[in-house]
Amino acid sequence: MNRLYKTLIYKKQISLSVLETTGLCQAARDVHSLEPRAAAALGQLLTCGAYMAGCFKSEKGAVSVTVKGANGAGSASVSGDVNLHMRGYIDGAAEGRLKGGFMTVVKDDGFFHPFTGACELISDDVSEDMEHYFDVSEQIPTKVRVGALFSGEKCVAAGGVVLQLLPGHEEGALRYAEDKAAQLCNVAADIAELGAEGIVKEYFAEETAGAYTYITEPQYRCNCSREKIAALLATMGRAELEDIIREQGKVSVHCHYCNTDYDFMQEDIDKILK
Ligand SMILES: [Zn+2]
Repeated sequence: MNRLYKTLIYKKQISLSVLETTGLCQAARDVHSLEPRAAAALGQLLTCGAYMAGCFKSEKGAVSVTVKGANGAGSASVSGDVNLHMRGYIDGAAEGRLKGGFMTVVKDDGFFHPFTGACELISDDVSEDMEHYFDVSEQIPTKVRVGALFSGEKCVAAGGVVLQLLPGHEEGALRYAEDKAAQLCNVAADIAELGAEGIVKEYFAEETAGAYTYITEPQYRCNCSREKIAALLATMGRAELEDIIREQGKVSVHCHYCNTDYDFMQEDIDKILK
């Protein structure tokens, strides 16, 4: 099950997003055959990425979030577009935790306003790091609760709640968001029990009165293709490609996001360079 619900609450001073990403996180685990802790870390990051992707107004909007742990503590990257087609990978994260180091966010809003933000990782908790990112890099008070619960290879529940304060908000709006975030301290358990729609009804009924925008279904989908890789190879030049063919018999390109190998033989390279 994958869902993103969005609405304005608290006299239109808070943007509320409720995500259910159980299917998305299951797909990410399966593509990469991750052990549960790494799958949970990647799943939480994918959920944050889906939230950001759901904020774009242009059909060309796209976002990527990269986390690099300090001292080789592992790294992860997720990216997605306004259709909530999400993809990601995680590498070498000891115990599935990404501690120390940096988070970098690259956003293209589709209106020619590219944005790059970065912050230090302050915690081994993705929700806390995300809140910190919004605070120091985008300077928007934001409460983030994301969670992903795995049992062996199965994603039991994943998703999150994001409360973002809008410009000109009252002091009370911030207190309200902090209060709700504190109540949602185990959001994966809430997703398992209530689902995303149930969270809207259980926690925000008085604010939404049943009215919310159901945006779309986040899903795991890579946007790589043989044609795109070929176009990339075409920019490399003949000499370099022929060197690789001589040494390895083929040019092999691996997509980290979906674990697909693309092989190009001599005749393929001839066609690309024509
Ligand atoms: Zn791919």
